[in-house]
Amino acid sequence: MAHECPRCTFVANRESIYISPQWKAKAVYEPLTFGVYTMKDWVGHTNFYLFKCSECQQASVDYLHGYTSLGSLSGLLFLSCLHCNTKLVLDSHYKNVYESEGFEPPPSPASLFFKLSWKRLLSVGSLMVIIVLLLLILLKL
Ligand SMILES: [Zn+2]
Ligand SMILES: [Zn+2]
Repeated sequence: MAHECPRCTFVANRESIYISPQWKAKAVYEPLTFGVYTMKDWVGHTNFYLFKCSECQQASVDYLHGYTSLGSLSGLLFLSCLHCNTKLVLDSHYKNVYESEGFEPPPSPASLFFKLSWKRLLSVGSLMVIIVLLLLILLKL
């Protein structure tokens, strides 16, 4: 029994989604909300995004896949190109995509840096306290 609802469009597969010339002209490397689709045997529907592939430079549509497992790029969502399968990995730069889908966005390098430097500050701070205490003890002796 196919999923039926007024909000989405049924398509046989991703390749059969029509990308009009207007949409093609709009495609950029940043994914844009394209439409809501469902396919055979799906229980619901999902958002599709339009983006320009950085590899083959063609307009492509896909829904979010998860998750990557590539070292520092692991745990991220990605879109893959219809034409050449190149992955567009959604890092913290694409925070808005995560937020619009209700996912926790990955931490940005800036906030990671802040956390690191905050820890460093704390350890430098405690080192200073130890040095001051040692000096006080030495001075008293
Ligand atoms: Zn639907
Ligand atoms: Zn491509």
